[in-house]
Amino acid sequence: MSITRSLLLWGSRNAWLERQARHRAFAQRAVRRFMPGEDLEAALTAAAGLAARGIGTVFTQLGENLTAAAEADAVRDHYLGVLTLLAQRDLPSLISVKPTQLGLDFEAATCVARIDSLAAQAARRGDRIWVDMEDSSYVDATLDLFRELRRRHENVGVCLQAYLRRTAADLEELLPLKPAIRLVKGAYAEPPERAFPAKRDTDASYLALAATLIEHAARHGGEPPVFGTHDIGLIRSLQHTAAAAGLDRTACEVHMLYGIRTAEQERLRREGHAMRVLISYGSAWFRWYMRRLAERPANVWFVIRSVVG
Ligand SMILES: Cc1cc2nc3c(=O)[nH]c(=O)nc-3n(C[C@H](O)[C@H](O)[C@H](O)COP(=O)(O)OP(=O)(O)OC[C@H]3O[C@@H](n4cnc5c(N)ncnc54)[C@H](O)[C@@H]3O)c2cc1C
Repeated sequence: MSITRSLLLWGSRNAWLERQARHRAFAQRAVRRFMPGEDLEAALTAAAGLAARGIGTVFTQLGENLTAAAEADAVRDHYLGVLTLLAQRDLPSLISVKPTQLGLDFEAATCVARIDSLAAQAARRGDRIWVDMEDSSYVDATLDLFRELRRRHENVGVCLQAYLRRTAADLEELLPLKPAIRLVKGAYAEPPERAFPAKRDTDASYLALAATLIEHAARHGGEPPVFGTHDIGLIRSLQHTAAAAGLDRTACEVHMLYGIRTAEQERLRREGHAMRVLISYGSAWFRWYMRRLAERPANVWFVIRSVVG
């Protein structure tokens, strides 16, 4: 891992830096590159614009590691309201939730119950909900939670991270459930015994895991694999793998983050791929934004430009 990436990921957990950044106008200007605004209405407007261009969306309210049940209940209620609004406005939009924002740190059972109610409401419109994967200390608990939810709801999908050494084994174990999986590279600071330190190893792991998902979809049907990545070379390579396995373009989905590789988002949609953009909103953007900077340290220049501009 590069020193800049390590520093940015370390900074993402620094409370003093967070207090400084959240109230600076330049930081708010820089964050705008990756989110349409802090409030839900900005996200809804952006989703309507993308929908008009044939691109679906996934909503996520920023925030993690909540410590009180009342706060986690408020997040659940917020998402229930979001699901109602998405249905009222007929938007092709889903939600993606972080378990630690719904209470995983203090009680797994009530965290499951909160996601349960979100899955039940989304199912009324035939929609899926996604469960994010946080740092590696949460993988066991998140996969347990997913299995528990999957017993009652077919419309819940979970994210897996290619940088973790354990993910190939996790995927093998999950496949009999015919799960909906969103495969990403992984965004957290992880020790080398848990995650591949070299990007090329993460990329190779991604390709191998994606090939397993594609092969499974071709043989057994089930949920379309979702590739959450902006790595166009990798997407092109997966297109060949999918075609060789006999899958057409709509059999896999590509998900990207709002504001990243927008021209490619359009191009993939024009080529006939199912394309979604994940839109984040909310005031708790600091940790999430630092992870976006760490993914591409050149983004720090945008922050510097925002200070000047
Ligand atoms: C829909 C979606 C959901 C996600 N959910 C999770 C999750 O639940 N858990 C988790 O750990 N991670 C999640 N991530 C983040 C993911 O793990 C990666 O950190 C992130 O996607 C960057 O990796 P990449 O696959 O785009 O490949 P990279 O090799 O990092 O990037 C490929 C290219 O994409 C562009 N790019 C990538 N990131 C940026 C950026 N921040 N700014 C500008 N350009 C960029 C650059 O041109 C880069 O060369 C999610 C990502 C997406 C797209």
